[in-house]
Amino acid sequence: MTPAFEDILRKPDLDREEIKLLLSAEGDRMKALLRRALEVKLARLDNCVHLRGLIEYGNVCEKDCLYCGLRSGNGNVERYCLSDEEVLSCARLAHELGYGSVALQSGERSDPAFIAKIERLVREIKKIDGGSLGITLSLGEQSDDTYRRWFEAGAHRYLLRIESSTEELYYKIHPRNGKHSFQKRIACLESLKRIGWQTGTGVMVGLPFQTQDHLADDLLFFKRMDVAMVGLGPYIPHPDTPLYRLRDLVPPAAERMDMTLRMIAVLRLMMPEINMVAATANQTVDPQGREKAIAAGANVIMPNLTPGEYRESYFIYPDKACVKDRPDQCRSCLDIRLAAIGHRIQYNAWGDSLAFTKKAKG
Ligand code: SAH
Ligand code: SF4
Repeated sequence: MTPAFEDILRKPDLDREEIKLLLSAEGDRMKALLRRALEVKLARLDNCVHLRGLIEYGNVCEKDCLYCGLRSGNGNVERYCLSDEEVLSCARLAHELGYGSVALQSGERSDPAFIAKIERLVREIKKIDGGSLGITLSLGEQSDDTYRRWFEAGAHRYLLRIESSTEELYYKIHPRNGKHSFQKRIACLESLKRIGWQTGTGVMVGLPFQTQDHLADDLLFFKRMDVAMVGLGPYIPHPDTPLYRLRDLVPPAAERMDMTLRMIAVLRLMMPEINMVAATANQTVDPQGREKAIAAGANVIMPNLTPGEYRESYFIYPDKACVKDRPDQCRSCLDIRLAAIGHRIQYNAWGDSLAFTKKAKG
């Protein structure tokens, strides 16, 4: 290891060239990067992992993202939408298991019935044990008015991945069919921040045509947008999607995993106090993927609470991990897996982003 490399790992502000150098680290250099990111995380955020019980609300989607199995153009999906009672019983279960927060995710819909139903569900979830559950939403692009309604109903964190912060690459993975706009996506993130949401974004790693320059720019984008949370995960080719045709341009699973880990680690150096999700997609490409992501600097896990019979219909990408696990099995499995890497779950807490709460306090 050169002293210069060690120095970069300790710099508070990394420039593009330094980020690229870190993203290309292999062998001992990669180990040093991950070690440093873990050290920074433990110093700022301790060894706590926060949970969000994931409720996959429905797979009806208006969009046509070229990588995702839920895209409206995919006729091979049986579409579903959970009933109010199903959502509320998942939320009650999250509370009983001590998860502290739920995340409601679904395909994108903007019809008034959907908007009103989410608003009502957020209010109902907030009634559980006097508002003890934190609520994250991940329901795609919406109007200012909708974001405001859901925020006022009591949800307070929103995840909307930019998917790629390079406009040219964005349009290689989203069709120019009038339904997808890079500028609109950025405007949505700005709207969420303005309204007061803890705003999260992220990208997929290992997309066709994606280069190290794109990934370095993604990290700089997160910093520039000053987001409170980031979710990063490997891209997983789905056979029923148009992007599958380009699967030969996708790096092997081990490389996607390593690049995801380096992205998480470098971002932890750049933004030490944000929340970072160890995405389930990590576990699909590597059985230890989620734990590796935690050890590289992530601090949030989203265990699945969707009722068993719907899980296989929420088929964003193939071979999703833990599809068959029951929530109680999942909880003890996580406890054991995290203890093995020196981490512990913080039960019964919202687990907000420290970066955000510090700023809010001024
Ligand atoms: N409809 C919402 C939320 C559901 S999709 C939205 O798009 O924001 C949630 C995330 O799944 C997306 O942001 C995307 O990054 C990820 N995703 C979709 N298809 C994927 C694939 N094939 N491999 C890995 N992640 C994928
Ligand atoms: Fe729909 Fe989200 Fe999938 Fe795009 S990524 S097709 S918006 S569910």
